[in-house]
Amino acid sequence: MRKGLILLWGGILVSLALLSLLVFYSLSPPEISSKTLTYFEQAQVEKGQAYAQVRYISFAAGQALTLLVLSAVVVLFFHRGWAPLAGANPYLQVMAYALLLFVFMAVVSLPLDFYRGFVLEHRFGFSTQSMGAWFADYGKGFIVNTVLTVAMFAGLYLVLRICPLNWPLVGAGAFVLFIALQAWLWPLFIDPLFHKFEPLSPGPFKDRVVELAASAGIEVGDVLVMDASRQTTKVNAYFTGVGQTKRIVFYDNLLRDFSQWEAELVVAHEIGHWKHHHIALGMLLGTGGALLFFMLYRIVLAGYGAQAGHPATVPLLLLFMTVFSLLLMPVQNTVSRAFERQADRTSIELTGDAAGAVAMSANLAVRNLADVQPHPFIRSLLFTHPPTVERIAAFEELAGREKP
Ligand SMILES: [Zn+2]
Repeated sequence: MRKGLILLWGGILVSLALLSLLVFYSLSPPEISSKTLTYFEQAQVEKGQAYAQVRYISFAAGQALTLLVLSAVVVLFFHRGWAPLAGANPYLQVMAYALLLFVFMAVVSLPLDFYRGFVLEHRFGFSTQSMGAWFADYGKGFIVNTVLTVAMFAGLYLVLRICPLNWPLVGAGAFVLFIALQAWLWPLFIDPLFHKFEPLSPGPFKDRVVELAASAGIEVGDVLVMDASRQTTKVNAYFTGVGQTKRIVFYDNLLRDFSQWEAELVVAHEIGHWKHHHIALGMLLGTGGALLFFMLYRIVLAGYGAQAGHPATVPLLLLFMTVFSLLLMPVQNTVSRAFERQADRTSIELTGDAAGAVAMSANLAVRNLADVQPHPFIRSLLFTHPPTVERIAAFEELAGREKP
C-alpha cells in the first residue's frame, strides 16, 4: 500500500527538485569557451543564451504548475470523495472527467503558453503572426489535442476495465497501436489543418534529393515544402509518417534563405533517420516505456486502494503520466541524441561534405538563436539534439581536420 504513495509523491518531489535545478542552471549560464568563440561571435552566443534562459525557466514553471494543480485535484478527489459525472455509464464518466480536467489545465496554462508562443517569439523577432492568427492556431491545436486525449482516455479505460488483471501488457500493446495509427494518419489529417504543403518543385535540387536517397538504398517518399513562414522566421526540416505517409518536410524559409548545398546536407540528415529506421525504433522504445509506466501505475493505484478502471482515477492517471514523462525525459533525450548523431554521420557519408556541415550547423544555430553550449545538466534533461558545438566537433572529426 505504502509503496504506491511513496512512488507517486516521491516522484513529484524528485520532479520538482529537477525543475528547481533547471531554473538554477538557467540563471547562471556557463562561461563561453574559446572553442565556441572560434565559430560564433560573443554577442551571438549571448543572445542565444538569453532566448534559451526564458524558455527553460518558463518550461520549468509550466511543468511545476501542472504538477501542483493536478496534485491538488488528486488530493481533493481521494480525500473529499468524487461526484459521478455524466450519468452512470463509466466510459461517459471517464470522458467527462478527462474533458473537464483538460479544459481546466488549458485555462490554467494559457497565460504561460501565450507568453512562450507569442510574446517571446515576437520579442526575439521570430514570429510573423498577428495575435488573432496566433489564437486561431492555438484554438485549433487545443481542439485537436482535446479530442485525441479524450479518445485516448476512453480507449485506455476500455482496456483497464475489460482486462482487470493483465492490463499493463494489453495497455502497452494498445499504446503502440495508438501511436502507430497516429504516426500514419497525422500527416494526412492533422498537419494540413495548420499548414499548406506543396511538393518540392522539379529541378536540380529535387533530382539531387532523389539521388541522395538512392545512394542510401532508399526509395524516396514525398518531399514537401511547408509554409512555415506564415508563423515564424526559424528554419528547419523534419521527417514524419510511416508506410505510405512517410515524407520529408522542408520549411519554406530554409529553401528560400539557405544555399542548395546546405539544404542537401539537411535532406541527407533526414535520409539518415530514414535509413536507420528511427521512427520504428522510437515506437518500439515507446512501447517499452508504456509497459514500464503501466507496471508502476499499478503500484500507485494499489497505494490508493483504487480500481484501475474507476472513472475517479482519471486525475491520478494524468498526474502520474506527467511525473513519469518528466523523469523519463533524460533517458528519452539520450536516445534521441544518439539517433541524431547517427543521422549526422549518414549525412556526411552521403554528401562527403563535412566541412560544409560545420558551416551549415553554425548558420542554422545563428539563425534559430540556438543555445550552442548549454550546461551539461540542461543538455541531458532537455536537448533532443546534440548542442551545436558538439555537432561541429563531430563533423570536424569526420572531416579529419585539425581541431582549432
Ligand atoms: Zn534529426
